[in-house]
Amino acid sequence: MECRKCGACCIALSVSSLDKPAGIRCHHLTGDNRCSLWGKPERPEVCSAFRPEPSFCGSSFREALELMEALEGESRAADEERRPGKGVQPPEAGR
Ligand code: SF4
Ligand code: SF4
Repeated sequence: MECRKCGACCIALSVSSLDKPAGIRCHHLTGDNRCSLWGKPERPEVCSAFRPEPSFCGSSFREALELMEALEGESRAADEERRPGKGVQPPEAGR
């Protein structure tokens, strides 16, 4: 699909190399929803590799935000599952 330059992906998704949390507008996103790092070596690889897809861009800015927020939630849940020590109970207090 053609990118409609709505900017939702640069808000909804986290970008770890920029310390950008999910749901926060990237500070490299310009007022007209362009990437100020476009074409520059410091642009994160994950951003350069990102391609618009109907399954997460939807048909509007609002729909894209909702779809990508859901994706971020799934990804956080998967990360939590893989976390070392998951399922290990902490020692009881006082023992
Ligand atoms: S959410 Fe999709 S359509 Fe909107 S700017 Fe990002 S890639 Fe383009
Ligand atoms: S660096 Fe550019 S492409 Fe990546 S999230 Fe920020 S504005 Fe979007």
